Amino acid sequence: MGRLDDKVILITGAARGQGATEARQAAEQGARVIVTDVLDDLGVEVANEIGGTYHRLDVTGSSEWQLVVKEIVSSHGRIDGLVNNAGIFRPDTVLDANEEDFERITAINQHGTFLGMATVAPILKEQRAGSIVNISSIAGMRGHQAIAYVASKWAVRGMTKSAATTLAKYNVRVNSVHPGAIETDMLFDLGTETVDRLVRAVPMGRSAKPEEVGNVVIFLLSDDASYVTGAEIVVDGALIAG
Ligand code: NAD
Repeated sequence: MGRLDDKVILITGAARGQGATEARQAAEQGARVIVTDVLDDLGVEVANEIGGTYHRLDVTGSSEWQLVVKEIVSSHGRIDGLVNNAGIFRPDTVLDANEEDFERITAINQHGTFLGMATVAPILKEQRAGSIVNISSIAGMRGHQAIAYVASKWAVRGMTKSAATTLAKYNVRVNSVHPGAIETDMLFDLGTETVDRLVRAVPMGRSAKPEEVGNVVIFLLSDDASYVTGAEIVVDGALIAG
């Protein structure tokens, strides 16, 4: 028996990286997985591999959200879980960030997460069941130079708590996950020197495989987490614990 047997789970940004890994792990646990992204070819590949379905979903578009969620409910009859995973990173600081980039980053990471929650929440409320997992970052727990990224990830953490308090009485849970250095393109794009420096600062002395975040996401989606809501789970090898 899988931990997500027959649950209908939508994951954003699931064509690669952590989202794709979580899609695979959810399918292994028996879920019917809806893979979404803007990278169509990769997204279709992941969906085919796991026996799921792919929908193009740019998380910044509220009408796209409405359409995709409507299609899921009409073909599966319900939706049990949403993982707001899609995200982008830019290193720009307060000294060099421009307004356009700031708006783009917050549009995807923050506004996209809001739209996802706002679109599925009425359905989960009606069902009196559901789990939303928002992927923030350790940059949502403390200061970091990348100003737009930090703004968006603190916002995700705050919105998680807001939605958790609103939805708790309907048996709908909302939690945030805060990864540290995870081995995906987002980390590798920082360059070897930066990655090495970051990893040296991790008390566990290593970066993490995407599966190590995925295990936490699967737990939060599952009924094992039935009383866990409004929580923030850091997955960082003790990087920010000191
Ligand atoms: P990644 O770059 O491999 O994956 C991000 C995914 O989001 C990609 O598939 C991309 O196409 C998708 N995406 C980007 N813009 C989108 C949009 N407008 N609509 C829909 N999808 C879009 O990186 P990842 O590490 O897998 O990132 C997953 C999440 O984890 C992100 O929210 C990221 O901020 C967070 N995170 C990553 C790390 C890390 O070290 N990798 C650390 C902390 C937090």
